[in-house]
Amino acid sequence: MGGNDNSNGNKVPDGPKRPIFHYMIMFYVIGMILLTLLNAIALPFVVNRSVQEVSYNQFLTMLDEGKVKAVYRGDTELQFTAENEDGREGLYKTGNFPDADLVNRLAQADVYFSEEIPTQVSPIAQFLVQWLLPFVFIFLLGQLFIKRMSTRIGGNAMTFGKSNAKIYAENETGKTFADVAGEDEAKEALKEIVDFLHNPEKYAEIGATLPKGALLVGPPGTGKTLLAKAVAGEAHVPFFSISGSEFVEMFVGMGAAKVRDLFKQANEKAPCIVFIDEIDTIGKKRDGSGMTGNDEREQTLNQLLTEMDGFDGRKGVVILAATNRPESLDQALLRPGRFDRRIPVELPDLRGREAILRVHGKAVKLEDKVDFNAIARATSGASGAELANIVNEAALRAVRMGRKIVSQQDLEESVEVVIAGYQRKGAVIPEKEKRIVAYHEIGHALVAASQSHSAPVHKITIIPRTSGALGYTMQVEAGEKFLMSKEEALDKIATLTGGRAAEEFIFHSITTGASNDIEQATKLARAMITRYGMSEQFGMVALETVTNQYLGGDASLACSPETARIIDEEVVRIVKEQYQKALQILKDNAAKLNELSEYLLEKETITGEEFMEIYTRKNPTADTKETEGES
Ligand code: ADP
Ligand code: MG
Ligand code: ZN
Repeated sequence: MGGNDNSNGNKVPDGPKRPIFHYMIMFYVIGMILLTLLNAIALPFVVNRSVQEVSYNQFLTMLDEGKVKAVYRGDTELQFTAENEDGREGLYKTGNFPDADLVNRLAQADVYFSEEIPTQVSPIAQFLVQWLLPFVFIFLLGQLFIKRMSTRIGGNAMTFGKSNAKIYAENETGKTFADVAGEDEAKEALKEIVDFLHNPEKYAEIGATLPKGALLVGPPGTGKTLLAKAVAGEAHVPFFSISGSEFVEMFVGMGAAKVRDLFKQANEKAPCIVFIDEIDTIGKKRDGSGMTGNDEREQTLNQLLTEMDGFDGRKGVVILAATNRPESLDQALLRPGRFDRRIPVELPDLRGREAILRVHGKAVKLEDKVDFNAIARATSGASGAELANIVNEAALRAVRMGRKIVSQQDLEESVEVVIAGYQRKGAVIPEKEKRIVAYHEIGHALVAASQSHSAPVHKITIIPRTSGALGYTMQVEAGEKFLMSKEEALDKIATLTGGRAAEEFIFHSITTGASNDIEQATKLARAMITRYGMSEQFGMVALETVTNQYLGGDASLACSPETARIIDEEVVRIVKEQYQKALQILKDNAAKLNELSEYLLEKETITGEEFMEIYTRKNPTADTKETEGES
């Protein structure tokens, strides 16, 4: 077990997770030891040779003994290398006597001779070669090593204790509440913080301390980050921000250091705003198992809690955090004195959407008669970010079309781009399939129009989208709706099944094109029973609980398997019933179904008005067309 590196590396933050400077220190220490050893043992042979002075007679004796290896004759002295007592090579010098015979004797003894003394290495050069060069070499090697380590881990490891997940500091965010459209409740709640930052004395006087932190809670793209910046902008205070997700990648201990760093900087600049985006990544509920190996996150969270408790709220450091999964936050974060104030930032309503479109519309050149209300009505459920995107897409489309101004049509088209995906250019749909799609869409529209509780049809198209949809029917409520009655829910299910019903009625065969409709119808029918208490069987009993309010709204069953079976039966019953209803509507309106489908097939896209015009028109030729679709 002990020898198995793999299993070990998973649990313990060993190996690459250990701070890089541990390796660096080890590297330099080993390098210096090696260098010293090298100098002590090896180098004396090459450079550092002390010169020993001997008499000329001694030199001659050594020459006779065959110990001399090489002789260098200078003007005043003679240097030579020879084997010394312990068998090693030593350097000697002696006076230079005019010995004419010397050259011959040396040649006879086969000793190297030169008339020039090799220049002795100066002490400075010696130091350079012996210490400085190797040291520089080791240092450069170390640098290379750091670079490779840090690019592999991702980040600049030279900043060691300093922040690595970037702390973004802005002295002026340049955003104000005017940049945030809608979200009036959130703005109202944040105005108090702005006021506090403006004149903290007012609060101190009365003895009131403002909450240290406020948590902005809401689905992605609703403007949480924007709101936090606007608070700083309104109060004219610096804005420090850091994103929770950046902590995840870091070395152990780095996250905590980072948090400390963040609060240190913030304290120096108080009053200011500290914004922690995506706080759920560090503030997740801690589970007791301890085997998750995520002690890094836990350390970071603990440090955050410590810092929040530690600093003086009256100094004017206000902490804002944002999350879209509040239910997964650690309870410790929500305790009084921490993020005890929770500010919901919801998806915009009709008025909000229109306001957001206006804010972003200011940035682009628009034609005079742009109707933002129509766009807002067609984008129920869109977030602020999506609406901003719609305006931008419209501008891009205008440029593509070679225009200098954004038109209503650009906006309408970009709604579809953002919501349904790009128009699939060049995708050729066989005529027969196109016909099926046309009948399918008209099926939806007809069922919707024939029922009293359905939203009016706004647009029908059979132009395929890159998202995979071959066509769709867009229904738009006349105003904003918050509640759905049981009748409306049932009518909606009937409308959803209308597409498939049309296929079956006209072509006597069914296709895969209805998969999304089926999914939606099933979901709605299920929710009616389990969450809205709309079935006679169960009444007002919550059979499901929503586990994630903002992301997808997944629900989990909270009932016995027996009940679950009954729910399934009930769902099937509801959808079947509505399907039959839809089929009957289509049978009753067969002439209109044919006429409208042929019209759509020809036009590919028709508006709600065109649809209603044909739908309400008295049509004398109705009966002749009844069976045409079957060909
Ligand atoms: P979040 O942080 O909630 O995910 P952001 O604040 O990052 O959302 O919003 C992304 C972008 O969407 C903003 O920069 C802004 O352009 C736009 N946006 C979102 N909500 C609004 C709003 N209420 N008013 C104006 N613009 C908005
Ligand atoms: Mg954000
Ligand atoms: Zn459909």
